[in-house]
Formats: sequence, C-alpha cells, structure tokens
Amino acid sequence: MDCPSCEAKTKVLESRSAPGGAMRRRRECTGCGERFTTFERREREPAWVRKRGGERQPFDVSKLRAGLGRAAHKRPVAPAALDAIAERVALAAERAPGSELGSERVRDMCLEGLSELDAGAYLQFAGVELGDFDSVRAAMDRHELRGSRKDRDRPAKTAAGSVRDGEDAPELPPETGSEPTRGEI
Ligand SMILES: [Zn+2]
Repeated sequence: MDCPSCEAKTKVLESRSAPGGAMRRRRECTGCGERFTTFERREREPAWVRKRGGERQPFDVSKLRAGLGRAAHKRPVAPAALDAIAERVALAAERAPGSELGSERVRDMCLEGLSELDAGAYLQFAGVELGDFDSVRAAMDRHELRGSRKDRDRPAKTAAGSVRDGEDAPELPPETGSEPTRGEI
C-alpha cells in the first residue's frame, strides 16, 4: 500500500493476526516516514441461512457472533475463539451449495465449536436448563453422536429416545420449536 500522505511506497514494520482471521499491519512510508496501521481481511461472499420452515435469510455473521457471545457470557472463553467459530460457519455457508446452510447445520457447527471451549457455554447455547438432567444428558448425547461420525474408530452409540432432532436457529430457545405436525389422514 502506498503512503496516504505522499504516495510513496510503504514498508511493513509488523504484522499481527486480528480477530476474525484478519491481519493488522504497521506500516512506514519510505518517503515521508509517516507510520500507520492497515487491516487486511478476506472479503465475504454473500451467503444464506435456510430456516426449518424453508425461509431463506441472508447469513449474518455478526448476529451469529452475538449469539455465541451471549452463550459464553461470564464463561472463561476468549473472544477470539468465538470469532473463530463464527468465521468458520461463515466460510462454510459461503462454500456450501447455493451459498446456503440449514439453520440446524449452523447451530450444530456452533455447538461443536463451543463444546471444545467450555461446557457451560455449550449448554447455554443448546438452550438447556442446567437443572434439567435429562436435557443435559440428551444434549451431551447429541454431541457424542456427532463426534462419533467424525471419529470412525469410535463405536457409534444408539440415539437416546429423548433427543429432539433439529431444533431451530440459535437465537430461538428450544422451547419455541414447533411440535411435529400430524400426517395427513
Ligand atoms: Zn509518505
């Protein structure tokens, strides 16, 4: 990048990673000596989230990041780790067929990421009441099942009957999930 003051070439003094996979560079002009900082980040491609009802919404990474932040509130989780989860989901959405991810997939990816960081944040995101032992166990079982698909060497477990499949988007508490509709007679 050229100097904004005199348009001479600049040299990079220091490069550091910044949140969200960005790069922060301290620069110095080779002409006038002015120093300034630049940020370099990957430009986002448009992406969408498909809700359970079929509605398609623009993928909003800052909204997702805010949801992760709420789940990790007062938990020992580094903000950069939450940035990384949000960035991973955003990238997955951009690369998905039609640049679109199902809301359940978004939620699962967030849960996977949180499960590696902090159990409390994980459960908070899953919308589980900590006093509700069955729900905690079901949430844990869900994660174990997901993990066993990745780690083929581990024996697959059978699904617990109490596990509810495919709850809605992260920002909605699971209690609002619609009950299964009855089939046509
Ligand atoms: Zn200059």
